[in-house]
Amino acid sequence: MKIFYSPECLKYEQPGHPESPDRVEATAQYLRWNGFELGEPHPCSDQDVLLAHSADLLESVKAGTFFDFDTPVFQGIDRIAKLSAGAAVDAVMHCLNHGEKAFSLMRPPGHHAARDRLGGFCYFNSIAIACLKAMKENADIRKVAIVDFDCHHGNGTEDIMLGRKEIYYLSLHQSPLFPGTGLKSRDNCRNIPLLPGTGPDRFLSVFADEMMAVESFGPDLLAISAGFDAFRLDPMAGLSLEIETFGEIGRRLSALNKPTFAVLEGGYSKNLPECVNQFLTGLEEK
Ligand SMILES: [Zn+2]
Repeated sequence: MKIFYSPECLKYEQPGHPESPDRVEATAQYLRWNGFELGEPHPCSDQDVLLAHSADLLESVKAGTFFDFDTPVFQGIDRIAKLSAGAAVDAVMHCLNHGEKAFSLMRPPGHHAARDRLGGFCYFNSIAIACLKAMKENADIRKVAIVDFDCHHGNGTEDIMLGRKEIYYLSLHQSPLFPGTGLKSRDNCRNIPLLPGTGPDRFLSVFADEMMAVESFGPDLLAISAGFDAFRLDPMAGLSLEIETFGEIGRRLSALNKPTFAVLEGGYSKNLPECVNQFLTGLEEK
């Protein structure tokens, strides 16, 4: 397992904001203690961003001329968001070129960033950029499945990928909850809303059914939006998964036996490092 991480991603912060640098820094430290190797990512290019986003969005992030209450303007956020998306690109390229799974441990997250609009702590949609770049540069990658188990619906990923036959997007998320979308499946986007309080047994039983659908789609590449806010003590959401549940999610995704990379999305509890460690350990199992 190769992990892409740069302390550059810690260099923006708003006091009291739940998407804090501490959560990712503590996770990096914990993964090192557990024997994972962390390597430096490269920023992605403007051209890479434009695979998933409009020129207007790119320019407004660069100029800081946007307003979103949850997703503030920070000095240099365009550079850090391009490094976070670049780490996702590095992760997918590593998994395709070296046959080894890879994980991007970076912030800002991405799955709420739509083609024309940022939001929900997300500026650029890292997983969408990485998938579209992999398909553009590698003719063998004709079909990609994106599995998103963050507790929030990935409305940005759905917006970018909707109607693309070569993509299958699966999101399991709590409803009702921000951003309020994902109540029904649409075209190539499969949405599984889950009631608040949903625990490991129910979650994993639904997940098993959905893994069969992912398998029958026949993807050449598996992309994972790995959010850990479905953990039962997470302050931002109300599902009731245990730390161990993320290990089981990782094992079941590994069982699909596809070239696989994952990208950190949400996860705001103090237990984020253990949740990520469990997930990656499960994902490494054959
Ligand atoms: Zn989330």
